[in-house]
Amino acid sequence: MAKHYTFNPHTLSYEILGIPFRVRLYRIVLTVALACALSTVAIYVFSYFFETPRAALMRQQNEELQIKYDFLLQRLRQTDNELNELMQRDNKMYRSIFEADPIPLSVRESGMGGIKRYEKLLAEAQTAQAAKALILMDKITKKIYIQSKSFDEIVEYVREKENMIFSIPSIQPLNLSDPKVHFSGGYGWRSDPFYHNQKFHHGIDFGGPTGTPIYATGNGTVEKAEFNWGGYGNMVIVNHGFGYHTRYAHLSEIKVRQGDKITRGQLIGLMGNTGRSKGTHLHYEVLFKNQDVNPINFFNTDISEEEYGKIIKALKEDADKPAMEY
Ligand SMILES: [Zn+2]
Repeated sequence: MAKHYTFNPHTLSYEILGIPFRVRLYRIVLTVALACALSTVAIYVFSYFFETPRAALMRQQNEELQIKYDFLLQRLRQTDNELNELMQRDNKMYRSIFEADPIPLSVRESGMGGIKRYEKLLAEAQTAQAAKALILMDKITKKIYIQSKSFDEIVEYVREKENMIFSIPSIQPLNLSDPKVHFSGGYGWRSDPFYHNQKFHHGIDFGGPTGTPIYATGNGTVEKAEFNWGGYGNMVIVNHGFGYHTRYAHLSEIKVRQGDKITRGQLIGLMGNTGRSKGTHLHYEVLFKNQDVNPINFFNTDISEEEYGKIIKALKEDADKPAMEY
């Protein structure tokens, strides 16, 4: 290091001057700063050309992670596709079988609060795959939720259908294989037995001995079980729900009470000749939305082809004969 001299006028000689502390400090700082800068450049240059073991490990882990994310995304897309197929089948098959409205795609695919949550993640290239996976997961979760709701609904529809199947009148109100029981009058315009003019017959008649058991033709609730002064005599009306009622008239005896829950095939009364009736018979009506319909169309679960043929034949033969009541 260069030495500093100063001229002393008193001694007339040059004297060695001590370096001031400030200057020394400045020099030290400068040296350290320079060393730092140089080593930084050296490290930078080195790491540019050569990878440190730690960086290499991280890069490797990163690559592995990318592969895993790609795989995850692939699996999620596969699941999403399977779910889409299930939704299609649900809308086009299951829901249409049960006459349920299809769930619109917009509802099925509506997001769960939107993509905003993932905006930050999506902006970063390294985590974009993760964000995509999360978004897809969200969509799938929502779809599954809606699908499971739809299945719950379908289960309800099935229960309702089952209930409907058991409730809608579909058997004969008496045992037609009993030889003493016979079909005696059809639905439609017929000659009135009392006045002999043409009158509309709102049900069908079955003749037989007094006391022949009469059965409910579907599950339901007894709406009326009383003597009807209008001409039906001892009468039972069953409400089957789904818009259906059945009427059983001219009974000799009623075996149920108003409000009773009854099942298909349950005994509700006995055949008789009460009310406006000429001869022992059952007058049976089926009503849909309070409009009588031809009961012949509701004998569909227990009637044999032979029995059905017999009824049709009797219908034709009896067409001109008067009904046993109006
Ligand atoms: Zn009748």
